[in-house]
Amino acid sequence: MPKDMPPSPRNDWTRDEAVQIFTQPFMDLLFQAQTVHRANFNPNRVQMSRLLSVKTGGCPEDCSYCSQSARNGAQLSASKLMQVEMVIAEARKAKAAGATRYCMGAAWREPKDRDMAAIEAMVQGVRALGMETCMTLGMLSENQVLRLKDAGLDYYNHNIDTSEAHYPNVITTRTFAERLDTLARVREAGIKVCSGGILGLGESDGDRIDMLLALATLPEHPESVPINMLIPMAGTPLADAPPVDPIDFVRVIALGRILMPRSHMRLSAGRTAMSDEMQALCFFAGANSLFMGDTLLTAANPEESRDRQLMDRLGLLPEGAACR
Ligand code: SF4
Repeated sequence: MPKDMPPSPRNDWTRDEAVQIFTQPFMDLLFQAQTVHRANFNPNRVQMSRLLSVKTGGCPEDCSYCSQSARNGAQLSASKLMQVEMVIAEARKAKAAGATRYCMGAAWREPKDRDMAAIEAMVQGVRALGMETCMTLGMLSENQVLRLKDAGLDYYNHNIDTSEAHYPNVITTRTFAERLDTLARVREAGIKVCSGGILGLGESDGDRIDMLLALATLPEHPESVPINMLIPMAGTPLADAPPVDPIDFVRVIALGRILMPRSHMRLSAGRTAMSDEMQALCFFAGANSLFMGDTLLTAANPEESRDRQLMDRLGLLPEGAACR
């Protein structure tokens, strides 16, 4: 191996190793994470994605953080699946604003076969604009995975949310193992995997480490790892959840960067509650992907102009943009 090639990603991390990395002094952790980041990525580039909710609310699942669950009291009215042409028109706008990947989410336990033709048309239409496509539709059967692959889907998002041990405290309508089954089907079909978690669900540091370890010990790491900070939603069981400590959040990003050195670590929901300085620390710890736009499904997201200002202040450029 040439001397300057970074080592291949490992998927045999032990819990002891992960705990040792996570609990080292903050400055040492940041230094290690930034060193790994620089060996694998341009540290001044950020991948930009845009997320659109193509079907909102009325979900039969009981994720305790989510305002789209019909079982929670968030009173979010359910919409129908969006028209394909409207989705393509929104994707065109996102492309013009600098997004390279278009993520489409539907509040379902799993797609119905009758919806698949429209879903496939959305993937094909967004791809025809020259953008990468990502979908998040819940659990998928083998046949649905193959249909999405044939339509040209690039990424499938399916978050594991938290550790296996904490999972039943957050969601009871499906299991952690079912989550991993869908991820395995997606990977087997050759679709890239986007999977991460949420901090602020009442989990311990150990649960945070275990959540990242579950991803880092998959046969192949997810290409994309979104790390969300809970936005407590009125009417949900986690409406009064205490805020996540910003330093703890940065530690999780750093551990994710070290365990999964070639994955894009994405700052996802919760950025409205993060200061610019906290986001800057996240980038230093190895975050290199953002959701742009002013809403994330049903949650607020920083306005694009604020993101641009922050990126300018930090000298960050979108991935794929020409150098200044
Ligand atoms: S997170 Fe997804 S699966 Fe869970 S209730 Fe919300 S929309 Fe449904």
